[in-house]
Amino acid sequence: MTTADIIAVGSGHNGLVAAAYLAAAGKKVLVLERNAWFGGGVVTRELTRPGFRHDQHSMSHIFIQGNPLLTNDELRLKSRYGLEYIFPQVPMMSVFEDGTTLKLYRDPEKSAAEIAKYSRRDADAFRQVSRQAAAWLPMIASTLYSPPAPVGASNAMLDQSREGRELWRVIQMSTHDHLCELFEHEKVRMHFARVAGENLVSPDEKATAIGVYVFLGFLEAYGFGVARGGSGRLTDALIACIRDHGGEVLASAEVARIRVSNGRATGVETVDGRSFGARDAVIGAIHPHLLGQMIDGMDPTVRAAAEATHITDAACITVHAALDAPLQFRTSERVDAVMVEMLPTSYETLRRDFDELRYHRFTPYPLLGLGSLSQFDPSRVPPGKAILHLWDYVPYRRPDGRSWDEAKQEYADRMLAHLSKFVANIPGVVLERHVDSPVDMERTSPSFRRGDLHGIATSTYQSGAHRPTPDLGQYTIPGLDRFYLVGPFQHPGGGVFGAGRATAMTMFEALGLDFERQGRVK
Ligand SMILES: Cc1cc2nc3c(=O)[nH]c(=O)nc-3n(C[C@H](O)[C@H](O)[C@H](O)COP(=O)(O)OP(=O)(O)OC[C@H]3O[C@@H](n4cnc5c(N)ncnc54)[C@H](O)[C@@H]3O)c2cc1C
Repeated sequence: MTTADIIAVGSGHNGLVAAAYLAAAGKKVLVLERNAWFGGGVVTRELTRPGFRHDQHSMSHIFIQGNPLLTNDELRLKSRYGLEYIFPQVPMMSVFEDGTTLKLYRDPEKSAAEIAKYSRRDADAFRQVSRQAAAWLPMIASTLYSPPAPVGASNAMLDQSREGRELWRVIQMSTHDHLCELFEHEKVRMHFARVAGENLVSPDEKATAIGVYVFLGFLEAYGFGVARGGSGRLTDALIACIRDHGGEVLASAEVARIRVSNGRATGVETVDGRSFGARDAVIGAIHPHLLGQMIDGMDPTVRAAAEATHITDAACITVHAALDAPLQFRTSERVDAVMVEMLPTSYETLRRDFDELRYHRFTPYPLLGLGSLSQFDPSRVPPGKAILHLWDYVPYRRPDGRSWDEAKQEYADRMLAHLSKFVANIPGVVLERHVDSPVDMERTSPSFRRGDLHGIATSTYQSGAHRPTPDLGQYTIPGLDRFYLVGPFQHPGGGVFGAGRATAMTMFEALGLDFERQGRVK
């Protein structure tokens, strides 16, 4: 049996971040990954043709930009292990079906000028939203990269000032209700409503309005990071850091079971019968629905609550395409954003689409988003060529009873046909494509269960110290010692946050290590 101090189940970026901090502190770390490749949702692969490097899942690294992991370069991912970001000036834009556009720049005055094309009043309101987002950002960011404070204490703190109570009011509102307070023009409302959609929730969902401020605050303060060479360069840098500190990362090693002895995690067993011992602790990127199957003797109440966590109704489907040339949009404005949303002209269409998903039906109007990051990073494609990452939302279980394996190409045809209303050289410019249905998404990482790219729904009752459940919110399982959780289903949620840092902090404390002093690469 191979033994290490720390065994990490899964090489997603969060598991790697936690493992890398422990490796930097001198622990012998072993990471086991079920796939033949590393990175989970942070991976760049030649999915179509040689020389076309596609970000299979995450493409833009937004929220990790405020993480001390990067702001202080704690693990020297940037200065020693080759991680480099490009920050385009237009992180996000909407392209409406009538050819009009709305760009959000890092510079709020430029964004206000864009919004003024539709409404001067809305441009002024936007300036106020931007100021508010900047004011709230330090407080919000301070909660994202360390273990969450208890929910009751956080609410009590907000209740102590007028500003805190206003923040609490916004936290509880639906995006739609708040946007109607702020803006008068429906395209401006729709543009910001689509932001909630990126979190796989309807703008009409209660307790989502704060997302507008979090998104805008990060967009303006940090920009949307595009990793040079591809999203997977973050994974590469983390693995280089772990190996540099004597750790190992193994592919094609699927963990079937966590070994438990006297209430303490002592190692793991793989599906092919290998056994690995952990002297100090085990880290697991294990979805709450699967925990009970992998850990014997979990408290039945804790297990039942974990298995009852709610998954969103809006599953994700993506098309990756190798393109013969860059996209030619049917717009007079240049389309030069990291994230581009293809929107209808009526806001009601978007709201009704999300209603359909709630009933597990297809959306009448595809809600396409895309990125073509070769325009910022030509190293990802052969000279003159381009890549496309296109996504839409669908029910996990098709209402017509067909399997996604059989029907996904047909759905991709629908997506591309719709895209051709916005882009003149689609579909002719597509050389080859790769389609990931919600079922494929779940196959590439069990975190993306039922195509939920955030693991479980991002709802208030599954947030903060209550994510995924009040029992599991501190990255630990009651009654099981030396086992620690990472994943998009833990605080602060889905997205490239580098949230494994918070798991590492919890582990340092339990193992008697000093995070401030030892959790750094010198
Ligand atoms: C299509 C799509 C697009 C996205 N776009 C963005 C974006 O642009 N920006 C953004 O910030 N976020 C985006 N996300 C979300 C982001 O990718 C995820 O939230 C993030 O990657 C989660 O990281 P993680 O390390 O927590 O989990 P994962 O990346 O899911 O990693 C878990 C790893 O553990 C492995 N594993 C699980 N069980 C076992 C086992 N039993 N044995 C061995 N290995 C195991 C899995 O194979 C996987 O590699 C996107 C997600 C998807 C699906």
